[in-house]
Amino acid sequence: MDINLIRSEGEDKRKAWAAELGLKRSRGHTCLTGLLGEHCNGHNCVGLPGIWVDHAMMWLRGGHPVLVTSEPYGANMEVLGDLLDTCRRFDLKCAVSGESFYLPGTTIMIYVWKDGVCEPNWLRRIEA
Ligand SMILES: [Zn+2]
Repeated sequence: MDINLIRSEGEDKRKAWAAELGLKRSRGHTCLTGLLGEHCNGHNCVGLPGIWVDHAMMWLRGGHPVLVTSEPYGANMEVLGDLLDTCRRFDLKCAVSGESFYLPGTTIMIYVWKDGVCEPNWLRRIEA
């Protein structure tokens, strides 16, 4: 199959997913600061640390960051450990799904969010 077709189908699925969940992709700077309830002004930026970060995006609901997604090509023990370390350090939740949108079939989806900030209904397929 044509890689450009796979890419565009994945992005179409991402748009549908975001619309269904009422999420808007942030066009701004992607970092964890917004998830922690602060507006990132650069000085308070905690960045997007970790080897789990690839094809990362920040998602807004009602104008506020509620979710960061990352779509690496896979995750070994070091990657998963780094993800857990990041989430424990910043008191964030995370989950991994096989439903990814960046070249679907070649990447996994990592979700990172602040517990209680937003109902994590994007996890319905994981929890089903
Ligand atoms: Zn920042």
